[in-house]
Amino acid sequence: MKVEKVMVIGAGQMGSGIAQVCAMAGYQVLLNDLKPEYTDRGFGVINKNLSRQVEKGRMSEDQKKEILNRLTASTDFQDAGRVDLVIEAAVENMEVKTKIFAQLDEIAPAHAILASNTSSLPITEIAAATKRPEKVIGMHFMNPVPVMKLVEIIRGLATSDQVYQTIEDMTRTLSKVPVEVNDFPGFVSNRVLMPMINEAIYTLYEGVASKEAIDEVMKLGMNHPMGPLTLADFIGLDTCLYIMETLHEGFGDDKYRPCPLLRKYVKAGWLGKKTGRGFYVYE
Ligand code: NAD
Repeated sequence: MKVEKVMVIGAGQMGSGIAQVCAMAGYQVLLNDLKPEYTDRGFGVINKNLSRQVEKGRMSEDQKKEILNRLTASTDFQDAGRVDLVIEAAVENMEVKTKIFAQLDEIAPAHAILASNTSSLPITEIAAATKRPEKVIGMHFMNPVPVMKLVEIIRGLATSDQVYQTIEDMTRTLSKVPVEVNDFPGFVSNRVLMPMINEAIYTLYEGVASKEAIDEVMKLGMNHPMGPLTLADFIGLDTCLYIMETLHEGFGDDKYRPCPLLRKYVKAGWLGKKTGRGFYVYE
């Protein structure tokens, strides 16, 4: 099957990045969110990213215009009736995602593939909310999407080989590197990354060191490009908490219990860079 039209659900950090890279690769893209102000915010981010490319001489003004012309805002799921692929990037919450997939299943054409950018939720369970589980798959992009090369491609229990192949090929057209992973909580990336971030939050919570010191140790000592607390702010503390809860519940192992400080920050609405405050303050 040839993918030509893509719909991205959720115009947040990830959705706007996914829509951008799809439009840059020549796909017609619908970027959907709950309200026009949310899609406007997503388009604002894309516009800024592309303008930076023009300023750096990596793209002409005409190319930028062509890319923007391939992008259309949507606040209506009925628009899914005209697409070959939906990539869902709404919030990391099973109830929200299963509701979205059940609705999309009713509207999207029979041939359409429904993908989720979930960081950790079981693809098999999301697929079970539809009548086409063989056409449901995980496409886990990394943040920031325009920069990061990896896409974890997650096979649900019922995902067909043909659908897997179509998505692997499509991912390459985005100049990304697909890596095949089976459907277990957190997949590979967040099974390894998130417990490290959670442990860094515990070291702050227990007063082992300041946030700056924890980040410095991991940057200079482990050669990580950014410290774990800064990275958590970039990912979004709500997303980090959802992922830890998914690991905790999925494996039933207390080694994955989320740090109380992480819960507290999320309850306070300190979600990281996107809300202007997390472990650090962002102007
Ligand atoms: P975000 O909060 O920035 O954006 C989520 C967007 O989804 C919001 O604009 C929200 O209005 C919208 N939304 C919520 N419910 C919706 C619905 N029913 N229909 C349409 N839009 C809806 O979150 P994000 O960081 O972009 O994360 C999105 C998804 O990507 C999550 O599943 C997350 O786990 C995953 N993810 C995040 C990262 C990361 O680093 N942030 C990395 C990889 C994957």
